[in-house]
Amino acid sequence: MVSAIKQADRASARVPSGAAPAPLRRLTILGATGSIGGSCAQVIAAAPGKFSVVSVAGGRDGAALARRAIELKAEFAAVADPASYADLKSGLAGSGVEAAAGPEAVCEAALREADLVVSAIVGAAGLEPTFAAVAAGRTVALANKETLVCAGSVVMATAARAGTVLLPMDSEHNALFQAIGSRDPDTIAMMTITASGGPFRDWSADRIAAATREQALAHPNWVMGPKVTIDSAGLMNKGLELIEAHFLFGLPPDRLDVVVHPQSIVHGMIAFADGSLIAGMASPDMRTPIAHCLAYPERIASGVSPPDLAALGRLTFERADLGRFPALGLAIDALRAGRGAPTALNAANEIAVAAFLDRRIGFGDIARLVERAVSMMEAAGELMTPGSVAQALAIHHIAGERTRSLLA
Ligand code: MG
Repeated sequence: MVSAIKQADRASARVPSGAAPAPLRRLTILGATGSIGGSCAQVIAAAPGKFSVVSVAGGRDGAALARRAIELKAEFAAVADPASYADLKSGLAGSGVEAAAGPEAVCEAALREADLVVSAIVGAAGLEPTFAAVAAGRTVALANKETLVCAGSVVMATAARAGTVLLPMDSEHNALFQAIGSRDPDTIAMMTITASGGPFRDWSADRIAAATREQALAHPNWVMGPKVTIDSAGLMNKGLELIEAHFLFGLPPDRLDVVVHPQSIVHGMIAFADGSLIAGMASPDMRTPIAHCLAYPERIASGVSPPDLAALGRLTFERADLGRFPALGLAIDALRAGRGAPTALNAANEIAVAAFLDRRIGFGDIARLVERAVSMMEAAGELMTPGSVAQALAIHHIAGERTRSLLA
């Protein structure tokens, strides 16, 4: 009799009565061919039976987007550059994946019914599709920091109105998000994000100013796309992240700080009113914050081991040197100035970094160009607070034009 009950229990454990298997979480990945898109694909592959992919979108590599769409068994693939449509279409031949091209197609990808939209398109190009998903009330995992830097107040106000959940996928903000947990945000005394210091941490100002493209692209800890790697080398990336944190967590500039931490194990820290300091730690591998966002509020294996602190032996911290890293100082100035300054800073930086990657200017010219473009706009009264995405993009375009004219 006892064994019969056990048998029945085992049988019912194999086929739970009436309980359907947990539905797959439906994902859309904007920026599927970039570095974050690749790490998302690895996390999805490591969690079979957890996710399905609705849409993928990419910038201009149609063939790579087709391969990613097939790998992820996506339903829909959208490439932003219409000239890449032929490559996408031929890459998808016989796969059954629907193909489309143009910025509207990327917005369509963002809006197809999904449980979570990953926003990982590099630069301000990610703003419109990300905003579309936010306004539609989709849960959005933000890996693209430029969306918030360019139009933070508009995006956050829209998210609040639409009841949109924003999950920070950038490693620092993900660590801060986890460190806050259910604690009262009003008791936060200081939020600190860490910077590895990049490849030029110990270099003199003159040597940094003369750094080559190859030297700037050789990041010691993180494997990332070229734009964010150049931003990291001059610490502009950390400045953009401070602005991102300001909008995301609603803290004033004087309660946001940066500390250099070369080992990249602590990513963010929160000091509370009582003197407690809660740190968010992880190995420097984007699969950890990606897995956290994709499965949130559950936890899944990411394929990354937690840091072995005894093996590491030593974690060090130092102040950031604004003299050697003027880009960080410019970003802090823009954060304090508010209004359209972060938007202009971000746009000028995009043009300057592209010019550096094209070997048209030196590394030291990036911050110089950004400073001149933003002060030209300040003097012309062009740094008004963007009240809509269209206004943010207008400031973005003016700042881009100013920077291009300075380059010419
Ligand atoms: Mg980061």
